Amino acid sequence: MKLVSILDAPKPSRRLTPLDIIDELGLIIERWEAPCVNANGEDYDRVYWSLWALGCKLIALGEGCKASLDELGVFRDFEDKPRNEVYSSVRDFARKAKPTPLVRLSWKPAKDVRVWAKLEWFNPLSLSLKDRPALHILEELGLPPGSYIGDASSSNFAAALASASRIFGYRARVYLPSTTGRIGRVASLIMGAEVVVKTASSTVDLIKLVKDDSQKLGFTHIDQFTNDLNFEAHIRGTARELDYQARSKGIRVSGLAGSLGTSGHMAAVAFYFSRRTRGDVDIVLAQPAKGSVIPGLRRVETGMLWINLLDVDYNIYDVTLEDALTVAVEVARSDGLLVSPSAGAAFAALRAHAENYGISGNYIVIVPDTGYKYLDLYESWVGGELA
Ligand code: PLP
Repeated sequence: MKLVSILDAPKPSRRLTPLDIIDELGLIIERWEAPCVNANGEDYDRVYWSLWALGCKLIALGEGCKASLDELGVFRDFEDKPRNEVYSSVRDFARKAKPTPLVRLSWKPAKDVRVWAKLEWFNPLSLSLKDRPALHILEELGLPPGSYIGDASSSNFAAALASASRIFGYRARVYLPSTTGRIGRVASLIMGAEVVVKTASSTVDLIKLVKDDSQKLGFTHIDQFTNDLNFEAHIRGTARELDYQARSKGIRVSGLAGSLGTSGHMAAVAFYFSRRTRGDVDIVLAQPAKGSVIPGLRRVETGMLWINLLDVDYNIYDVTLEDALTVAVEVARSDGLLVSPSAGAAFAALRAHAENYGISGNYIVIVPDTGYKYLDLYESWVGGELA
């Protein structure tokens, strides 16, 4: 067996993304090992791209052997991090200031549950989890400086894309529905993007327009809603980081809670951990209750790729905006952390789940964003304690 840097190994001629190789990828995570392969062998490209999706640094060449993912450097990105972090560029900072923190909270949905929050606002470009797909997609596309890119977003992805475009030297065009708040619009404008605001109740209603405009105006449509590299970004990032963080601190992950927009991040962590634990993980998802608008979130039936396609079990809860804000305020008052309404929805879903099933153990809540972006919403909310 020969361990070779994945960057030096022959690059397969076709790019396979996680949905193309989902069985292979799932088995590699489940077994925590990958078969040795030969560059001209039949399964080379599937193994190569599975290891790439998992952020492994090495690939094992040879025949009839296997290498564990630890041997292949799956966690090397996060090991031996200097505490005094100095980065030579914003690009380096945005890619390497990882993992985002995992923080034990005192807030509990039930007596025997320990809650850990993964704070995604520690992604520096958009102060949200959307840095991950924006950076990963642009990196994998590898377009030359001066390229023109565009996409629709409810807010955070626009900011992340506008910001990442500065780093890569691109021109960006973002489309936002008129129902969204001003953060994505203003941040994207400041970052020099072209901003198109259209009357639409939801971001997905803008996808056709973006597709048509991409043809007319000649920009590359990033398409966060169906681009499998969104999912891959969260396998390489969010899921792998969590696994590393939990393992290095001896935390057994009983469950994961989060919210749904494109479903990129929750489908990725649900898939990764369901394979890693052979199904022994409890997945709790939040979607907005009918008639409720929670920034960044959508209902499953509005069409989401990954969570609908993947074979993972989950419980999904309808959360009203009022419930999301109520629980977010509870967390703010118990822990002094001001989280986004979408995180409030995830905490509310976890509480409902605890009431239904009497759960215990370590539950991780993915906090997509900071609450400081939504002060207007918190302030105008007159149904609860803030009134
Ligand atoms: N929370 C916030 C604040 C968001 O902006 C988004 C997506 O834009 C989400 C949650 C959902 O994330 P995902 O698209 O990965 O499902």
